[in-house]
Amino acid sequence: MKVIVASSLGFCYGVKRAIKIAENAYTAGDRTVTLGPIIHNPQMVRRLAERGVGYVDNLEDIDSGTIIIRSHGVGPTCYNRADEKKLKIIDATCPFVLRAQQEAHRLVTAGKRVIIFGEKNHPEVRSIAEWALGQALVAESPEDLRNLPRMDDVSIVSQTTFSQETFRQMLAIVSEKATRVDVHKTICNATAERQAAVKLLADEVDVMIVVGGKNSGNTRRLAEISAQSGKMTYHIETASELQISWFRSDMKVGVTAGASTPDWIIEEVLEVMEDMNKMLEEMEMSEFHKGSVVEGTVVEVTDDEAQVSFGYKTEAVLPAREYSFPAPKSMKDVLAVGDSIKAQITNAVKEDGTIYISKIKLDRLADWDIAEEALEKDEPVVCEGIEAIKAGLLVQIKSLRGFIPLSQGDLRFVRSLSFLVGTQFEAKVLEVNRGQNRLVLSRKAVLEEHRDEEMEHMKVAFENQEVLTGVVKKIMPYGAFVDVNGIEGLLHISDVAWNKIDKVEDVLAQDEEVQVKIKSFDEEKQRISFSRKDTMQDPWLEDIKNHEVDDVVVGKVVKLMDFGAIVELEDGLTGLLHISEMTKERNRKASDILQLSDTVEVRIIGINPARKRISFSLVSVEAPAEDAETENE
Ligand code: SF4
Repeated sequence: MKVIVASSLGFCYGVKRAIKIAENAYTAGDRTVTLGPIIHNPQMVRRLAERGVGYVDNLEDIDSGTIIIRSHGVGPTCYNRADEKKLKIIDATCPFVLRAQQEAHRLVTAGKRVIIFGEKNHPEVRSIAEWALGQALVAESPEDLRNLPRMDDVSIVSQTTFSQETFRQMLAIVSEKATRVDVHKTICNATAERQAAVKLLADEVDVMIVVGGKNSGNTRRLAEISAQSGKMTYHIETASELQISWFRSDMKVGVTAGASTPDWIIEEVLEVMEDMNKMLEEMEMSEFHKGSVVEGTVVEVTDDEAQVSFGYKTEAVLPAREYSFPAPKSMKDVLAVGDSIKAQITNAVKEDGTIYISKIKLDRLADWDIAEEALEKDEPVVCEGIEAIKAGLLVQIKSLRGFIPLSQGDLRFVRSLSFLVGTQFEAKVLEVNRGQNRLVLSRKAVLEEHRDEEMEHMKVAFENQEVLTGVVKKIMPYGAFVDVNGIEGLLHISDVAWNKIDKVEDVLAQDEEVQVKIKSFDEEKQRISFSRKDTMQDPWLEDIKNHEVDDVVVGKVVKLMDFGAIVELEDGLTGLLHISEMTKERNRKASDILQLSDTVEVRIIGINPARKRISFSLVSVEAPAEDAETENE
């Protein structure tokens, strides 16, 4: 096992300085405490307490003595209160934090609009916000900035340990909203250097160990950066948490530590890893060692486990959870005395210790073969969604765990893949690395393939004007999105029915099955539009059969134009009565002769079935109904 230490790790300048100040602060007979733990590292806090410097969470917990302000700094209220209580103040605020506090104060008192980029509940950020007299906006993620109004000038101050990447994303948002952005780069180099170093190192190694307090923000961020590179990352506080099962002798292992991790803890971790490396090498030299595959005979079975004899002086134990995934309810259901079984040794083989074996780990080897073959042949595998995380979806493929990045989860952009949790689906393998336990998949690749095939079917259906069955997926004011075999297309409101409809919901419901024809097919843009009315008989063609040219019919004027009028017959058919068919006089308008709602007797002079047009000639006009009523009275 090769251990590589990050080029930049451990205590930063500000923390080293604060600890030195605290270590030298104790005076016999005087109570000396830090305000809050000196750093986010319990071991260091304990060590300081042993030297007589404890800590209080609140100024009200101390009435006399000395208070040490830690590197995160505090706001003006705290200094004032300590003065009131006549406490001696030793200020170990990191000079870089002090600069951020002073910048925020100077900008706000100069009347500037200030935004502080940082974790709202971090003590350092709270102190900067207080020095900004409570007038600065504190934003910790791009989401906090989405609703910012348009601004002329804005000044940015940052938490010293803020993520460079998040800073860049947030600055881009503010730059879009403000005419002028004045950036005060108060991110400390120590943080940036450690983040850059862990990123580089994680790319080079198989496993990363991040050492530091579990409550230390900067250590957690290092662990996050390492995990984002896809490498197995273990965040530990001390060497006692290291486990030999995390390593193999042929691995490269990276080690880094947060800015609040003392050197002695890092050294202990490195020493223990060195010992583990020696053990791994020794184990792998003997015939039976952790990881070797053995073949044996079942000699005893209980509900929970089986005893397997495999040619060693003691039998090995095969627990039910190591038999298969999910584990059998009872091992008696799957194994009997005398059965042969192949499995892998999972722990270090020691003289007097129990040997544990796992069939599932061996199955995993076979499952890795399947995953590799699927990648090689570009074939899909069946997965089950296990857990949606910010970056994508964790999936189970046989006995393996895999990962689908957010961008590979669907054909369209989605914010989360949680809708796939608990469902089974196919995905293509994008990357397999059994050494690094890395299996990356794409559901999108399968959907794209399916879409391409379906688009071919759609093309044929379009050419043949086939009637297809789809499902209404979404109703919009302008139409409905209909899914036909996984391909979505728009059914425009004007294509829903032959008659005019006001709302799509009057005719269709969500998830309703619907018959459609493809109205337009754009192969290049992969865009389809559907028509429902084209699957139905056009009522015009039926109704027109009741009429012939030269028939004299009665209708009503429903629209007037300069050049003529639209007349609607009793069966709902409409046609044009041109001005030239109303009068022989020139320069007359239809409104000179007819009024809206007039009842007219007209002769059909033309029927054009292809254009669905009827033309009329005026025979006589009758006044609107209300005139007629007046006459009757
Ligand atoms: S990380 Fe930077 S700003 Fe924070 S205490 Fe260390 S040196 Fe100071």
